[in-house]
Amino acid sequence: MSIADNVEEIRRRMEAARARAGRSDSVLLVAATKTRTADEVRQAIAAGVDACGENRIQEMTEKLSANAYVDAPLHFIGTLQKHKVKYAVGSVQLIESVNSPELMREIDRLALRRQTVQDVLLEINIAGESTKSGAGREQLEEMLCSAGQMKGLRVRGLMAIPPAAQEPGQTRPFFAQMYKLFVDTASKKYDNVTMDILSMGMSGDFEDAIMEGATAVRIGTALFGQRI
Ligand SMILES: *Cc1c(COP(=O)(O)O)cnc(C)c1O
Repeated sequence: MSIADNVEEIRRRMEAARARAGRSDSVLLVAATKTRTADEVRQAIAAGVDACGENRIQEMTEKLSANAYVDAPLHFIGTLQKHKVKYAVGSVQLIESVNSPELMREIDRLALRRQTVQDVLLEINIAGESTKSGAGREQLEEMLCSAGQMKGLRVRGLMAIPPAAQEPGQTRPFFAQMYKLFVDTASKKYDNVTMDILSMGMSGDFEDAIMEGATAVRIGTALFGQRI
């Protein structure tokens, strides 16, 4: 199957899940492009993915130089170290993986210096796993409040990477918890925070994520094949 065939099949499955959930809004397909070549990235964009998501700054910088992402928005979805924030701010449309107040402050500082406003999502460690990088739920409030003091970034929503399911359906309760957090946060109306995007669901569980309210899914393997 070509990348274009895979995009078509994923779109069909996304659409079916959306219809089953009775939703009338649309869901973004973000291609998780880690380890993929600039040429594979271009094929995915030509096939109509809505955005590309990269995990590593170095790899992203190389593909930016190769003009891989022309015609599609670029998201950063990996763990972002403070000293690498400078490579992301202003270069990507959305940083999905903001997981601490310190990281927010650094993004804000660099964005102001560059006279830009960086859109971000707050990544939540929804299952409280020690191996995962998201912010704890108890940190969310602090992060949302601090956004009100920042003019260099805008919080646009939430992101999560729940534990990989061993059996179908296992991640669904985590998606449901994320959706609740998303709706609760939206209702509280923090300054400089809008809840437009709920990014959750990967190759193995994106239909469950859509059933539970994801507005963006991040797909790698199902789109490009197994990573080596
Ligand atoms: C790799 C990755 C994905 C996609 O994973 P697949 O299982 O290959 O679809 C999604 N989100 C993040 C943050 C990733 O690193």
